[in-house]
Amino acid sequence: MRSLIDIVDFSVEELDELLKTACDIIENPAKYAESCKGKKLATLFFEPSTRTRLSFEAAMMELGGNVLGFSEASSSSASKGESVADTAKMISCYADIIAMRHPKEGAPYVAAKSAWIPVINAGDGGHCHPTQTLADLLTIYRELGRLENLTVGFCGDLKYGRTVHSLLAALARYKNIKVVLISPEELKLPKYVKYDVLDKAGMEYVETTSLEESMPQLDVLYMTRIQRERFDSFDEYERLKDSYILTAEKMQLGKDTMRVLHPLPRVNEISVAVDNDPRAAYFRQALNGKYMRMALILKLLKEAEEGRQMEQIQNTVTNEFYCDNPRCISSVEQELPHVFKCVNPEMGIYRCIYCEAKKTRK
Ligand SMILES: [Zn+2]
Repeated sequence: MRSLIDIVDFSVEELDELLKTACDIIENPAKYAESCKGKKLATLFFEPSTRTRLSFEAAMMELGGNVLGFSEASSSSASKGESVADTAKMISCYADIIAMRHPKEGAPYVAAKSAWIPVINAGDGGHCHPTQTLADLLTIYRELGRLENLTVGFCGDLKYGRTVHSLLAALARYKNIKVVLISPEELKLPKYVKYDVLDKAGMEYVETTSLEESMPQLDVLYMTRIQRERFDSFDEYERLKDSYILTAEKMQLGKDTMRVLHPLPRVNEISVAVDNDPRAAYFRQALNGKYMRMALILKLLKEAEEGRQMEQIQNTVTNEFYCDNPRCISSVEQELPHVFKCVNPEMGIYRCIYCEAKKTRK
């Protein structure tokens, strides 16, 4: 069945259609109150994430549907050693659609390949979190009225921040997006994201360490958390941490029309004093996440009814390379074939279909 594993599974036209549906839901909630009557969403959370799970459950309830599921590995079949593929098949007997969060990268993809109902990736390790990106896109669209001609600043941990990589991949397909990458040296955007996403799309970008200097030009400031464990030395963390905290003083440097986004939860990277600024959009962003999940559930259930299938991944090789990423689902499920997709034939570059780990054919 058609599923959502990575934000790039959807075309720009499909994203625009989702935004349109979400806006219609916001304006006419009563029209959708029974859209999913008699349907069940299974939330399979092999790793707890209360916010994301509640957002999915609220979305299904507002569509008139029901929810069932589990949270945390200890209460699930994972502790009994059942494979993700078997779990997905079993749940297909009880529910109409699955939202899956899993600590291993690629687990929702494995589920989608086996289930006969649609699967939504609700976060797979550090890999993808496409429904967060949907929330980000709706927020930018509603706050600024467009997804084109924007200067978007990303601030904080750009190295490990999967929400940043996902949003960049989505924005790369819209016109005239300029990107300002604001981070300490240690947490710069990885080279492969620059090559594969920004350069490929011909996006204009600059890298800087200064939030203050970047502020005046931004239409959107996307803040992320900087975690102490990401730094080699504690002194370095102590020296840098405050420079990436957004305060009311720094907000004065921004345009009146600028908007601040954050995937939440925040720790201390945005001062509470900023919350009262009308440009702080992060709580509205959480609400937008629910509307986009509603639109997404409607879309996938409709496509399931029409019998639309997942697109087959082309140009793959099986068991020619071995994925040695310990966070990959193939590292714990021994029977999964090691499938790699050719992403650059000239250079002989392949990526694991589960976790995107790279291999080069010599
Ligand atoms: Zn892998």
